[in-house]
Amino acid sequence: MPNILFAALTEAWDDYETHLRSALDDEDLQYTLATDLPPAEVDYIVYAPNSTVRDFTPYTRLKAVMNLWAGVEKVVKNPTLAAPLTRMVDDEGLTQGMVEWVTGHTLRHHLGMDAHIVNPERIWDDTPPPLAKDRPVTILGLGALGQACARALTQIGFHVTGWSRSKKDVPGVTCLAGAEGLDAALTTAQILILLLPDTPATTNLINADTLARLPQGAVILNPGRGPLIDDEALLTALDANVSHATLDTFRTEPLPRDHAFWCHRRITVTPHIASTTRPDSAARVIARNIARAERGETLHHLVDRTAGY
Ligand code: NDP
Repeated sequence: MPNILFAALTEAWDDYETHLRSALDDEDLQYTLATDLPPAEVDYIVYAPNSTVRDFTPYTRLKAVMNLWAGVEKVVKNPTLAAPLTRMVDDEGLTQGMVEWVTGHTLRHHLGMDAHIVNPERIWDDTPPPLAKDRPVTILGLGALGQACARALTQIGFHVTGWSRSKKDVPGVTCLAGAEGLDAALTTAQILILLLPDTPATTNLINADTLARLPQGAVILNPGRGPLIDDEALLTALDANVSHATLDTFRTEPLPRDHAFWCHRRITVTPHIASTTRPDSAARVIARNIARAERGETLHHLVDRTAGY
């Protein structure tokens, strides 16, 4: 009978508890689930990096740590963690939330909505926006979320290019990889969407050099992670070829009140709300994975500790 520690600071614990119990019951598991258990008796930790658990050493019989979030940068390098680490994938709530945020902000810029929402001069500019098929969009990161967003944007009609570490095959999407692929992905990107993880290899990927490769008037959406962008280089590019950046993630969160991004007229700040793990759907993902492990099967959604995601 596995002992499951829920180690995440969240106001939604009641919700998580209800849904986890229901999902674990559906898996026919006998278990103990609590927010406080003797470390030496814990088999699984359902984890968020905001938890008070920092040292995994006392958890001597740990079978896995299951990160509630898709991003693992705050736990992946923890030297005290020897057990397998999984991350949140296949939570349809998390995926759908990201698809909606990305689609909404892409359409805002594609349709030029701002000009009509705030139009104090009452200017009647009847220039129609181009069709989606004439607006090339690039997504850096073709993982679970990048592919879902690519599919949604393709269905609307956008020509989507995706870029990842290993070459992907996503119907209707131009899939690129590697350094040469990045160049082609950037030079066509009228709207650039960042859905990469925060790893040593992706830090400052969007810098003065890569920003300069974007076409004139390019828009950047960053629901990925703050460190993907060199902040100073972005501010400089906003005076050159980049027309707007809509940012959901930042190096420091909450974004400090005196940060230049808050009052820049070509930056929209959203407070890391692009998407979030949803207790009902996430509970099913976690319960399924614990059931797999209890049957002796390989865990799903294992993090590659070397690659960092
Ligand atoms: P995945 O791990 O499924 O996908 C990551 C993608 O990035 C993969 O395609 C991977 O390539 C690619 N990648 C990683 N490193 C490199 C590199 N060095 N060069 C090129 N491509 C690289 O992650 P998800 O899609 O689930 O999530 C993406 C990110 O979204 C998360 O890491 C998190 O930071 C962010 N996020 C933000 C949220 C928000 O509310 N703002 C909510 C949830 C997630 P390959 O396929 O070859 O491995």
